[in-house]
Amino acid sequence: MGNENNSRILLSSPHMSGREMKYIQEAFDTNWIAPLGANVDGFEKELAEYVDVAAAAAVSSGTAALHLALRLLDVKQEDYVFCSTFTFVASANPILYEKATPVFIDSEPETWNMSPVALQKAFDYAKSINKLPKAVIVVHLYGQSARMDEILEICYEYNVPVIEDSAESLGSSYKGRKSGTHGKFGIYSFNGNKIITTSGGGMLVSNDEELISKSRFLATQARNQAAHYEHTQVGYNYRMSNISAGIGRGQLEVLDDRVKARRSVFERYQEKLSTIRGIQFAPELPGTYSNRWLTALIIDEKKTGFSANQLIKFLAENDIEARPLWKPMHIQPLFNEAISFNHFSSENFSEQLFEQGLCLPSGSNLKEADVDKVIEKILQLNSLIQQKTEDVTV
Ligand SMILES: *Cc1c(COP(=O)(O)O)cnc(C)c1O
Repeated sequence: MGNENNSRILLSSPHMSGREMKYIQEAFDTNWIAPLGANVDGFEKELAEYVDVAAAAAVSSGTAALHLALRLLDVKQEDYVFCSTFTFVASANPILYEKATPVFIDSEPETWNMSPVALQKAFDYAKSINKLPKAVIVVHLYGQSARMDEILEICYEYNVPVIEDSAESLGSSYKGRKSGTHGKFGIYSFNGNKIITTSGGGMLVSNDEELISKSRFLATQARNQAAHYEHTQVGYNYRMSNISAGIGRGQLEVLDDRVKARRSVFERYQEKLSTIRGIQFAPELPGTYSNRWLTALIIDEKKTGFSANQLIKFLAENDIEARPLWKPMHIQPLFNEAISFNHFSSENFSEQLFEQGLCLPSGSNLKEADVDKVIEKILQLNSLIQQKTEDVTV
């Protein structure tokens, strides 16, 4: 992924700022390599300030952060947890760690994220069988925020806490507040392909400081205060290392630049490709600001004459990495027993996104020439197809 020894144009690769080494050096100078230490404390504090939330806990991954959130909400075997279906599997795996039951909620056209309409249907159903969910996991995919006002209103009505999976939306905002700070918990990921990276890591945030402090306890093997280590509940080895946190501090300093760079990649694609009939870029709901982590689009094959998969293949042949959009959870074999609720009365909207969509190379370190090469190749495929159709018509 971070490999630059070939000329392949990658989807999203790590982009160091040059400021990371300073923090890592400090850790070395003080021999504070592990376990926790000044970088972990600093990274937590700086990230909490950046998103404007009371407290943050630095952990080993975004998945770990989600798992801790479920534990803190006391999710147990057979409890329902509602979750966006259109997401990466890491949003839903922690539900299975606790042997709880996921219920998947469809996306809606204006955000591609959780549909308040489908969510209401799920609550109606849960209420009818007297089994409300313990939590709702809302995902903000590719940087675009879900409709938080509508979603929170429904969840408040039933008194069910919301966890925001903001793994892909760090730096995005909804109505002036940062993504990940609207619900009970928010989580971020610093995996290698995310908008900023610690090589691997995550963060759990909340305005409830007590819960965050409890999350740190669970993340360090749930060790009670005693020299001999006393244990009363299951814990995990989930904390972030002081070295990783040093990388994170250096990355956080340039997060806003990274958002700007990704947005301008998106804008360049949009400007040059919207001439193609049948291409539609991921929306940006009014009142929201997307970090445009990945440029995502859908292709209406009836209009373009080529499908998303054909385009992905054509780009691969030209050394360009493009990928399908996430395959919805309710059609993953892993979850074939799960129930799901659709936005529309019949068909599922997220399946449509999956069938028609793809992501284009979107790294903040992409050169303009690389973006232009991707654009050129897409235009090339388009004119090849147009020619073919004209030939057939003649
Ligand atoms: C990356 C990602 C995660 C998981 O983060 P890790 O740090 O890789 O564990 C969770 N949810 C979504 C939507 C993601 O894209």
